Amino acid sequence: RISYYNGEYVNHDEMRIKSGDRAFYFGDGVYEVVRIYDGRFFTLDEHTDRLMASAEEVMIRGLERDEIVEILHEVRERNAITDGALYIQVSRGIAPRDHSFPDGSKPVIYASIREAKRPHGQMEEGVRAVTTEDYRWLKCHVKSLNLLANVMEKQYAVENGAKETIMHRDGVVTEGSSTNVFMVRNGTLFTHPADNLILNGITRQEVLKLAEANEIPFREEGFTVPDMSEADEVFYTSTTQEITPVTNIDGRQVGDGSVGGTTRKLQSLFNKKITQLKSV
Ligand code: PLP
Repeated sequence: RISYYNGEYVNHDEMRIKSGDRAFYFGDGVYEVVRIYDGRFFTLDEHTDRLMASAEEVMIRGLERDEIVEILHEVRERNAITDGALYIQVSRGIAPRDHSFPDGSKPVIYASIREAKRPHGQMEEGVRAVTTEDYRWLKCHVKSLNLLANVMEKQYAVENGAKETIMHRDGVVTEGSSTNVFMVRNGTLFTHPADNLILNGITRQEVLKLAEANEIPFREEGFTVPDMSEADEVFYTSTTQEITPVTNIDGRQVGDGSVGGTTRKLQSLFNKKITQLKSV
């Protein structure tokens, strides 16, 4: 497996990370995960744009979009992976440990690829989720390397026999620990607006585009945990989890406990989009 770090393509297992990398001390950086289906990137431009936007938000300067795109293509081409996920991160730079931005350091890019099968089983059957308070910072729209809160939240799910933790701020559902959350009530789709309290998922945006194009009514509007408990359907989305139905929340079944019709419809439309990509 060939990965990229700080200007070099190297054998992944022999990679040497610089000890002064600010990603290491501070999680001082941003990242993306891009899906590869049948050897082709899915929504590459959207991910690249969001990486640039995240870097801009936290004032990581001197990042070139063209360089990012080139590295992404190069890593994909150097590895024979058909269905995979490409991880790319950009740290603020390499410097002795000091909180303030170092003078003259350049962003450090790391990229690696791994095989990632589509999550067919859970998309078919649905998963369990639990809810908890969202105690993250107020810049959740930045895809920051600082994921300690998300890690704690995901582990809470694992320890409670669930697949995902759905977070809420003062009772309003924001998102999952690594996913965006939707509910369906009386045929209308609801999801939290794309503000500073959530990461505006690329899959979230794809789902909203599909809803728009197929006359599925939707509202980007906050809803509460009790609203969600009484919803007909709930699902979450992400690059690797695609559209995953949630059939049980905090031990109570959602709707009649089976995967709902709107979720199925969106899954099938999303699937068509992926398949179309393959035949390009
Ligand atoms: N929300 C959070 C906190 C995430 O970490 C992620 C993805 O990892 C998402 C939402 C989903 O975003 P995307 O669909 O772009 O993968």
